Parts: sequence; structure tokens; C-alpha cells
Amino acid sequence: MGTRAFVASRMTLNTTREAIMAAISDTKSAAGQDVDTAAVRKLDSAHFIHPFTDHAALADKGARVMVRGEGVYLWDSDGNKIMDGMSGLWCVNVGYGRTSISQAVYRQMETLPFYNSFFNTTNLPAVQLATLLADLAPPSFKHVFFTSSGSEANDTNVRMVRRYWDLLGYKDRHTIIGRINGYHGSTVAGAALGGMSGMHAQGGMIPGVAHIGQPNYAESGRGMTEAEFGIVAAGWLEEKILELGPEKVAAFIGEPVQGAGGVIIPPSTYWPEIQRICDKYEILLIADEVITGFGRLGAMFGSELMQIKPDLITFAKGVTSGYVPLGGVLVGSRVASVLIDKGGDFNHGFTYSGHPVSCAAALENLRIIQDEKLVSAVAVDTGPYLRQAFCALASHPLVSHPDACGFVAGLNLVKKKADAVYDCEPFGSDDGVGMICRGHMFNNGIIMRAVGDRMIIAPPLVMTKVQIDEMVGRIRDALDATLADLRQRGLFK
Ligand SMILES: *Cc1c(COP(=O)(O)O)cnc(C)c1O
Repeated sequence: MGTRAFVASRMTLNTTREAIMAAISDTKSAAGQDVDTAAVRKLDSAHFIHPFTDHAALADKGARVMVRGEGVYLWDSDGNKIMDGMSGLWCVNVGYGRTSISQAVYRQMETLPFYNSFFNTTNLPAVQLATLLADLAPPSFKHVFFTSSGSEANDTNVRMVRRYWDLLGYKDRHTIIGRINGYHGSTVAGAALGGMSGMHAQGGMIPGVAHIGQPNYAESGRGMTEAEFGIVAAGWLEEKILELGPEKVAAFIGEPVQGAGGVIIPPSTYWPEIQRICDKYEILLIADEVITGFGRLGAMFGSELMQIKPDLITFAKGVTSGYVPLGGVLVGSRVASVLIDKGGDFNHGFTYSGHPVSCAAALENLRIIQDEKLVSAVAVDTGPYLRQAFCALASHPLVSHPDACGFVAGLNLVKKKADAVYDCEPFGSDDGVGMICRGHMFNNGIIMRAVGDRMIIAPPLVMTKVQIDEMVGRIRDALDATLADLRQRGLFK
């Protein structure tokens, strides 16, 4: 009996657990060659609560079941080969199917699958990785605190900056300023630091967090050059500091380039001005580099590209290319000299801080990034090529103002184009044009993410020029299909 028939028969017996075990128990079906997609969807919908998902809607459509990855491609359980324009979720930077990472993980699991680092103990991969990160990070960073995710790392930041100011005797200096539409994770503190109103409204807010506007030229730059707007948008930080009282403000947090908010690339004047303001009021600067760290923008860290000197750097995602979970905070000398040198106990930590298996995966992943010179490729070779190919999509009737920075890029779907990005006529917010477009992307074998009507990509850093051409070709075909679809729906003339 084939797996499909087996699964089906078991389903009818209502032994759901056995059914799913059968569906994944032999490697052939694990590779998706004989998976009963309908059965998997049924179980998925019955038991698996997905992140950021409307389950009633998901139950109607059914989840796409991903079964295999190789390089920049994924395969679903129906055998479709799909190019991954989003690196999983901004993380699979070295691409899928890297045997050397799975071997490093296997070896570490065989040797020491776990030990904690709480009670005066440590482990070799964690020490090696901390040392390597101190080498790779900007000069003032010699210490790292490990977590399992970006959210936990930003939680750590909240506690670290508050502890820092407490130790210095400034017990009121507890407020952290983030940005509207910023994304810093989904724990309570991560959601609060981020600026997603939908998350704040669902229990994601804590006291002592404030927000300023994002440096989104398309949204707020009317009548200004980009350079002028960068200064204005950074000025919102100074206004907020003065409104709250500088003696109350602990830190500012931002992503060098906003990711989940829609690949918002700030004007070049923005970050240096933010730095100047933080320095002026002696406020700690936290760069959330969960996406921008480890080469995504064509520099090892986005902070270097933006010419800022943060005090803390959040990392996760790309540190292991997503093969296993790992995150952390790089701690610069200003905070380290207080917190570590004279802070005593810092009552904070996770069971998996410095997990040996995660650290082993990160070591091998970072070796690949260095040996294959992926950061310089994104800086001077494939990155500029991607930018040129992607920005040529400006000729498409639906597309306004495509832009790119390293290996992130975005374009706006608009009803009517104009020279200035803020003069373009948007589609109605209820028309769901971004999601319609995203569907056509999938159908054309390319994963692109929709943030409202902004379509974004963040491909694996290993993507070649030939694959970039293939990707942009697929995007163009999908845009054509979207255009035809919108015309049929009467949404585009
Ligand atoms: C993804 C992300 C996070 C959260 O990381 P998790 O591992 O999902 O907790 C935090 N900050 C940024 C900028 C991110 O993109």
C-alpha cells in the first residue's frame, strides 16, 4: 500500500496521529514524493496554530505544504518547484541543502547535544562562536549574550538597557523609543518595541515604550528632497526625547533598513542624524540587525553601511541561516563596561542561551559566508546586479519606484504612476491588490512577500546572476498576470 493510500485509510479511521506519522515516516514521503496533501492540510488545520494567521481563512484555502529545499529553490507537496525570493523568512542566507551545516549539527548532537551555561559552565561551540562574533562585529563589540530568537534578544535589550541605567544611578531612565511600523519580534517586549498597531492592540504593549514615525519618504516626504526628509524624520526622535524628558529616555531602537515594515530604505542622511541626536542626549542606540546582520545589505552589519556606532546589536535569523534557532545581543564596550565589569548578577538568561547545537550551526554557516565571500558579492557583484535588474521593473504599468539595498528590494503596486513617489495614486486599501499579486507570484514559481501593496524580496545571498534574471523574469510574468487579473476585476483601467 502506498503512503497516500495508507494515509487516506488511516484518516478514515480517525487515527490522526498515526496518519501524520505515516506521512512523514519514510524519507521518500518526507521529500514530498508521495504526500497526501489534502490529509496533511486537514491535520494542519486541526492542530497547528500558525503565526500571524487567520485560521478560518487558512482552513478554507489550506496551507501550502513545503517539503524540500535546495539552493534557492523549494518544492511543495504537489511537486511545484518554487524560487524562494524571501530566504524562508529573511534567514536562509546560504541557501537550502547545505550538507556541511547538517553535518556540523549532527556531530555536535552526537558529542554534546545540550548543556546549560548558567552555573559557571560553558561549552566549546558557544565559546568559539562568541569569539568569532567579536571578530566579525564592529570594533567596540567584544561580548555577546545568546538567545534562541530575535524576539528574546530584544527582550534582553530591554532588560539590559534598563539595568545599565539603574547601575549608573539613573532609575528613571527606562523609556525606549522605537518606530511606527518597526518590527522587533513577537514576545510582549518585542511587540511593544515594534510599531505594529495590530500587535499592540492584542496584548503587545508594555509601559515605558514610545514610538516615532518611520523614515518612509513615499509616505511622508512630500515637498522635500530625500536628503532633507532624512533629517526631518530623524528630528522626530529629538522631538520625542524632549517631549518625554531626556532624563527618562534609555535607548532608541531601529532596524538599519526596516524589513517586515516593507523594506523601507531610509535616506542616507537619516542614520547619521539619529546617531548625532542619541549622542547629544547620551541615549543608547540599539541596531536591530536580525535581518541586516551577516551580509544582507552588502556589509557584515547594516550599521557599518549606515555609518552608525550602536551600543547594542540584535541578531538572529541569518546567524544560522535559519537551519536551527539562534539569536543574541552583541554588547558594545559602553554597556559591557558597566553591566559586565561592575554589574554583579544580571538576573536574566534562557535554558538555551549558548546552545551548543545552534552555535555549531552558526559557526559552519558563518564559515560558508566568509569562505564564499558572500558579503562582498552582495556589495559589489550580485547586489548591484540585482538592483539593476529589479529596478528595470519600473517600466511595468503597475510598478512605481522599485528600489534595493544589497539583497533586499521592494516595489509599489499603484493605480496610477507619477514622477514623485508620493504623487502616485494607490489602490484602495480594501482591494487587496498586494495579496492578489502575491498569489500570482506563487503561481509563477516565485515567492515574494506583500506588505500592503508593496511587494518585497530578500533572496538568499547565494543567488547567482542567472538566477536573478530568472527571478526577475518570473516577477515580471506574475506582474503581467496581476495586471490582467486587476483589469478583469475592474480595478485597473
Ligand atoms: C524577525 C525579526 C525579529 C524577531 O525574530 P524572531 O526570531 O522571530 O523572534 C526581530 N527583529 C527583526 C528586525 C526581525 O526581522
